[in-house]
Amino acid sequence: MKVVHSIEELRDQMRGQNRAAFVPTMGNLHEGHMALMRLARQHGDPVVASIFVNRLQFGPNEDFDKYPRTLQDDIEKLQERNDVYVLFAPNEKEMYPEPQNYRVNPPSDLGDILEGEFRPGFFVGVTTVVLKLLSCVQPKVAVFGKKDYQQLMIVRSMCRQFALPTEIIPHETVRDDDGLALSSRNRFLSPTERAQAPHLYRLLNKVRDRVVAGDHDIAGIERDSRNELAAAGWKVDYLALRRRRDLREATCEEVAAGEPLVVLAAAMLGTTRLIDNLEV
Ligand code: AMP
Repeated sequence: MKVVHSIEELRDQMRGQNRAAFVPTMGNLHEGHMALMRLARQHGDPVVASIFVNRLQFGPNEDFDKYPRTLQDDIEKLQERNDVYVLFAPNEKEMYPEPQNYRVNPPSDLGDILEGEFRPGFFVGVTTVVLKLLSCVQPKVAVFGKKDYQQLMIVRSMCRQFALPTEIIPHETVRDDDGLALSSRNRFLSPTERAQAPHLYRLLNKVRDRVVAGDHDIAGIERDSRNELAAAGWKVDYLALRRRRDLREATCEEVAAGEPLVVLAAAMLGTTRLIDNLEV
């Protein structure tokens, strides 16, 4: 695997490549990331990964400074698996050389709800960095995890609207045996919190089971679930059952008619914010 830090070196590596498969990450790689690399390998060649902790997508009170940075370990992990041909690991100056940046502003109906409501500016940061990374790598396909469901939808819609030639391929959420979605932030959980954390996924399953069993009272299901999490000591940002196609609320009639849904949640356990979702 070649590790490159500058856009120029990356361009050298990518010259003449028009079938590349790309996996952007913020590093501290876990088995979820590794699964994305494996899927990338099935869809293109060479596989290019990136590691860049993107300051633009962190709010002023968020964990940018304490976000785990483990580049050497990440490189070793990638070398062991041998799925990735080029790793692009730029520094901030390389990605944002000017004091002021152009920004990509996602449409508010998708960008300002759910994660966008609780993390203002988050999706502007995500789309801005993803557009720049796609422009650097120019891949045929890029793989994104469903763990970040809204992000996946926004990146897809950005590629569509800007007519980018990259196809976005989703990967299912990779979980620990107890159901907790793998995340770089899980390492911040204390042992007690780690034991409590799978509650979130169990609750999403409970929501799905209720809908599948014919309960179409969306507001009631959401309220019960939020209360259950709060009673277990979580601070809930949102827990919402939405239409899969646009993340808008579904009417009772739509639910009854079998509209594909997804339940999405974000909640704090102690000082760690966890997000998860489940298609219904
Ligand atoms: P991150 O490094 O957390 O920004 O994530 C980089 C990519 O990995 C994104 O497309 C995420 O959706 C994806 N990802 C992170 N965790 C998981 C997981 N547990 N399962 C599947 N994909 C994931």
